[in-house]
Amino acid sequence: MNRVAIVGGGISGLAAAFTLEESRRSGTVEYTLYESSSRLGGVLRTESIEGCLVEAGPDSFLSEKPWASDLCREIGLGDQLIGSTDADRKTYILVRGRLIPMPDGLMFMVPTKILATGFSPLFSWTTKLRMAQELFRSAQVTGGDESVASLVKRHYGEEVVDRLADPLLSGIYGGEADSLSVRAVLPRFAEMERTHGSLGRSMLEARRKMPRKAHEPAKSIFTSLKNGMQQLVENLVLKLNRSSLLVNTPVQFVEFEGGHWKVSAGAKSDQFDAVILALPAHAAAGILSSCNPELSGELSAIGYSSSIAVGLGYDREVRRALPPGFGFLVPHSEGKRLLAATFVHNKFPHRAPNDRALLRCFFAGSNADNIWELSDDSIIAIARNELQQILRLRSTPLFARVYRWKSAMAQYGVGHLERLDRIDRLRRQLPGLALAGNGYRGIGVPDCIRSGREAARQAMEMRG
Ligand SMILES: Cc1cc2nc3c(=O)[nH]c(=O)nc-3n(C[C@H](O)[C@H](O)[C@H](O)COP(=O)(O)OP(=O)(O)OC[C@H]3O[C@@H](n4cnc5c(N)ncnc54)[C@H](O)[C@@H]3O)c2cc1C
Repeated sequence: MNRVAIVGGGISGLAAAFTLEESRRSGTVEYTLYESSSRLGGVLRTESIEGCLVEAGPDSFLSEKPWASDLCREIGLGDQLIGSTDADRKTYILVRGRLIPMPDGLMFMVPTKILATGFSPLFSWTTKLRMAQELFRSAQVTGGDESVASLVKRHYGEEVVDRLADPLLSGIYGGEADSLSVRAVLPRFAEMERTHGSLGRSMLEARRKMPRKAHEPAKSIFTSLKNGMQQLVENLVLKLNRSSLLVNTPVQFVEFEGGHWKVSAGAKSDQFDAVILALPAHAAAGILSSCNPELSGELSAIGYSSSIAVGLGYDREVRRALPPGFGFLVPHSEGKRLLAATFVHNKFPHRAPNDRALLRCFFAGSNADNIWELSDDSIIAIARNELQQILRLRSTPLFARVYRWKSAMAQYGVGHLERLDRIDRLRRQLPGLALAGNGYRGIGVPDCIRSGREAARQAMEMRG
């Protein structure tokens, strides 16, 4: 029988365990999952406070990536999936202290509706002219990797980097457009530039080729679960063998000895045929530091940033007074500490009673680092102060919660894909080692699930 160790009980590790579960039942695999904290789920955590569902980490996942919804269906949660209320979808960008709605038809940062963009006060006339000219760019042979900022600047100019690329990417990666790799983060953009030249023309063409059938309802952009993201964790855990899941058990290191893996957790160690490290890359680096310093070095070079989410519940007056839409993003140039705020009660059903408003504020990257040491009360005060400046929101919240996530968001820097090739080459020299998590090929929940499931299959094949 193959013995597999899974290190990390976030969604990546749980997805790996679920994939091994069938083989465990048939008696061909035995697995042990090690989780350092007292709870499973990693950054997926939902709290129910005064009738509101407050997400501490992710609130949803992208519907176009199938792996999370597929897993939900497999574990019997198909009827619990909910879509974002896209009819009310409107996101604002703070520009010189005013909230300006993102114009209709923006595909990430590429305008596809000329009139909507032309009339939008979000961009200056110079930028609008550049956007029109961009449609006539011809295909280009580009060199190696570059930052997202450099590609966007080439097509649309600095203002689009500041007002769109940067805040949108900070919202996902907690990082800045001038340090993130275009090939790793927006591979489609790099490809569109190579084949079409113009990103705008390429998007329009892609849309034309995919006409939606008139009777087919549009898919919501985001998917979540009725009882919040923790519902996924709880149901997944119910499908696993409880005695295989060890919480409060941090792994210090793993060693490859005599064709087997020795996993050391506290005073105990155990032997396995394969090891899945379902961890942030920096944590995997620490565990592998004596086993393979070169691999450990490559893993620790994958950057991570920290983030702080603040959940705030308000009464019906605030709900009435807030602007419609999903929330707003704050460009760096506005000089605020807040990166974004979500009007959760508008984004999803089942999140707040009709007489409550639920807001989620985000601080990320250096703005999160700068306030990290402050008390929860001080962080709440900063969030409230900035909400007052931006939304004129002076009311006292009914409740407030602060969630801190240290070095939890991977930053795919320029050259990330080349680094992954080197990591893969080094990993293959260690039979039975598999890596999963958000440090590699996708930071979102669906990609983490995919990575966990692939790692489980790899672990079985490598030692099969
Ligand atoms: C605030 C926030 C908001 C996000 N929003 C979204 C969103 O809306 N949509 C989306 O798709 N994605 C979102 N993401 C990203 C996504 O949630 C994460 O990338 C994903 O959940 C990571 O899962 P994971 O299992 O790989 O890692 P983690 O959740 O970090 O889990 C790793 C686990 O390993 C454990 N561990 C660490 N070291 C050890 C050790 N030595 N031994 C044993 N266990 C160890 C940790 O305790 C942890 O439980 C968000 C992330 C954050 C932080």
